[in-house]
Amino acid sequence: MDAERARGLLRQEEDRIEGMLAGQHAQDRGEDTADGAGSTQSPADQHPADAASDLADRETRASVSEQGQERLEDVRAALGRIDEGTYGHCEVCGRPIDDERLELRPEARYCVEHQQEQERIIRAQAGRDRHG
Ligand SMILES: [Zn+2]
Repeated sequence: MDAERARGLLRQEEDRIEGMLAGQHAQDRGEDTADGAGSTQSPADQHPADAASDLADRETRASVSEQGQERLEDVRAALGRIDEGTYGHCEVCGRPIDDERLELRPEARYCVEHQQEQERIIRAQAGRDRHG
């Protein structure tokens, strides 16, 4: 993966996540518009999911926002790794990460093999939290 290409992808991702997080905060503040049936907002502006929003959705939104924050940190860390010259290498085994994978997840820190291992660990932790 070309460093300039990676930087471009990461900047795009950073913008996208920041926009998403900002939008969520705005939505939380203007919540009462969702309750009023006679809203002046045009339906075309609204995602179907918003129209059907309820308490469960608000909980989902909180966790989405958390995930967004974490991803944003990953993206910024990846930008830092470009400067250090370690970008695109697995943090566990040091092997180069596939370009195909970096196109989809430019902030990837691990090769496919070790990503799966990390996700297993994360899932195990999340499961433990949920049961607690
Ligand atoms: Zn690896």
